[in-house]
Amino acid sequence: MNPLLSIDDLTVEYDVGGKTLSAVAGVSLTVGKGETLGLVGESGCGKSTLGRAVLQLRKPTGGTVTFDGTELTTLGSEAMRLMRRRLQLIFQDPIASLNPRRCIGDIIAEPLVIAGVADKAERDRRVREVMVAVGLDPDNALGRLPHEFSGGQCQRICIARALILEPELVICDEPVSALDVSIRAQILNLLEEMKRRYGLTLLFIAHDLAVVKAVSDRIAVMYLGKLAEIGPTERLFAQPAHPYTALLLEAIPVPDPTVRPAANVAVGEPPSPLAPPSGCRFRTRCPRADAKCAAEVPQLREIGGGQFAACHHPLSA
Ligand code: ADP
Ligand code: MG
Repeated sequence: MNPLLSIDDLTVEYDVGGKTLSAVAGVSLTVGKGETLGLVGESGCGKSTLGRAVLQLRKPTGGTVTFDGTELTTLGSEAMRLMRRRLQLIFQDPIASLNPRRCIGDIIAEPLVIAGVADKAERDRRVREVMVAVGLDPDNALGRLPHEFSGGQCQRICIARALILEPELVICDEPVSALDVSIRAQILNLLEEMKRRYGLTLLFIAHDLAVVKAVSDRIAVMYLGKLAEIGPTERLFAQPAHPYTALLLEAIPVPDPTVRPAANVAVGEPPSPLAPPSGCRFRTRCPRADAKCAAEVPQLREIGGGQFAACHHPLSA
């Protein structure tokens, strides 16, 4: 597999009232060209921070982000500005991410203006083209304001804006979480269709496994700033290796009968990232935890078939 994106030992810290919060604590992963990697984990585990750090919207504290052979963390601001056209972000809250005072046509055209496409006729042509691609009627929608649209339509507008510069990598940060359940499938289908049409590579962030199952080639599971497990979607669903992955699978409302049930996995709130547990960060909620888990940070190890888990006592071993 030819990685388009490669993240190595990425660390992102926030200063919270003089204390260091390690939101991303040494994450390494790759996303192959044309691949969709799902990134899941509970709210607060660092998914958005990781996505923003890839785009250098939040400067990493350590580690590297390599996109198509270029290391981004050391790139100058002008070079990064040019690079940003190739990497785009779609946010969770489509309505909040659209300027309420600008018409849809201007919102979608804005990346072209910033990229220096001076020819107005050319911009109009491309705006109309991408609007049709995402299922919006240009003649009806171009002159309207965001508040005249539903959440699902606003997400279509955001997707059009993200795609107009024909990026190669799109980071979708919980793109359907804020939408009505009834229209989630439409937006997921649209993203799949756009992926095929534009040959995109996707990093698809969600807080539950059910959403990413249908769209992801591989899934990465994050817990308190670290990767717990990463592997091919089918394999991870059929035989989760990390007890945390098993917990997430159990939380899916209609369980897949082929999924092995994880006995006695602790529930409850994750610990604060300001004071993560020693050793394995998941040990305080894990029924398999022993002294080794408190003493040693588990490294990602291959379980087999491209599935890796950071666990001293993996389930499928
Ligand atoms: P997720 O997207 O998985 O819900 P986030 O990346 O938003 O997680 O947050 C990871 C951790 O970093 C959380 O504990 C959150 O409270 C903290 N955090 C996020 N953004 C900031 C910020 N700007 N300043 C301080 N802490 C932050
Ligand atoms: Mg988030």
